[in-house]
Amino acid sequence: MKIFKFGGASVSSAPAIKNVAAILEMYPGKKVMVISAMGSTTNELELLARSYYKKDHKTDGILQRIKDYHSRVIEELGVEAGNLTQVNHLFSILDERLKKMPSLHFDYEYDQLVCFGELLSTAIVSAYLNQTGTKNKWIDVRDSLRTDDTYREATVDWKWSAMLVNNSFTFNGVDLYVTQGFIGSTTTNQTTTLGREGSDFTAAILANLLNAESVTIWKNVPGVLNADPTDFADTEKLEELSYKEAIELAYSGAKVIHPKTIKPLRNKNIPLFVRPFDFPEQAGTVIKEIDYQLDLVPVYILKKKQALITLSPDDFSFVGIDLLSEVFSFFKSNRIKVNLIQQSAIDLSLCVDEPEVGLESVVMELRKQFDVRYNTGLVLATIRFYNDESLAKMGRGREILMEQKSRRTVRMVLK
Ligand code: ASP
Ligand code: MG
Repeated sequence: MKIFKFGGASVSSAPAIKNVAAILEMYPGKKVMVISAMGSTTNELELLARSYYKKDHKTDGILQRIKDYHSRVIEELGVEAGNLTQVNHLFSILDERLKKMPSLHFDYEYDQLVCFGELLSTAIVSAYLNQTGTKNKWIDVRDSLRTDDTYREATVDWKWSAMLVNNSFTFNGVDLYVTQGFIGSTTTNQTTTLGREGSDFTAAILANLLNAESVTIWKNVPGVLNADPTDFADTEKLEELSYKEAIELAYSGAKVIHPKTIKPLRNKNIPLFVRPFDFPEQAGTVIKEIDYQLDLVPVYILKKKQALITLSPDDFSFVGIDLLSEVFSFFKSNRIKVNLIQQSAIDLSLCVDEPEVGLESVVMELRKQFDVRYNTGLVLATIRFYNDESLAKMGRGREILMEQKSRRTVRMVLK
């Protein structure tokens, strides 16, 4: 059994969904399809959630845009009215939800609304495939994927999920399941999400729990490249990568795979293929256990929207570990990801993801205890397998605010 994951771009239009159907035909056999929301629907649903929560009267307009987009795709696919029961049902639940007053917990409300992107895309793809002869069963993954109640960044309950997933995906009289990435639910059936771009992670979870033979992520790139083509002119495709390399790249900010995807696969030694949906005959990149030394070209990763915060207590107290752990707890509880740290006896510098709402309130809080200096709008650049040439290329014309080097990796915070 294989897992095929299709991201938003691969189901963003009727022709794209027809291409997905063609890929399925090329690769017969038992499969679970994990699908993301169509195109940028999740962004639209985020706007919807904010508007609903603020009660700012834009809600109806945003909802209409989402409905129009999905209706257009359904029409272009030619899905018959009789096959749209599930889709219509989902839209009416969404309508009902929006008529209720929001609770005081934004993250909770967010998950209850944003989940519709994946629910709708899978319902549409499933209906289309069934109508055109690719028989499949639609599964609401929320009935199987159990999480805690950390809304917007839920933690998977592996034990519960193992049992439920194996009870749902039995392959009894079915060869193909269509299900949602990104979403799950608590033991009290409240919808949760796994964090933005979390569908890859869902594919990996299901693969682990169902002992899949492989996972394939179908993308709009030829495979894993040594740099993001939107930032660099000449990129090269990597033929193969070890799990360890893949984790390093994903953690450093390579957008091609979600960082949480690798661990569940590595633990069961399940290979991950990253392949282009436009050229489904091409091999793409394979990520697997590799015990020989890979000779890779320099790999460049840029993580944008970074802030560099330097904290200095006036009493040399960073010498002790207690204050450090306090600082990390503080960032964790504010849900700010720390990507790089550098410490001296009296200074602690942290490169962090800049929060959407800005850093002001966080800095105000920190100023109660520290002298704080900070810069925003920075880039964290990582080069794996760097050499002199790649170092020069990255640093050229940019101010380097912080730099760390190991034998294989250099990371710098650039202005
Ligand atoms: N639809 C979700 C997002 O856009 C999850 C995903 O695409 O992986 O973040
Ligand atoms: Mg997406």
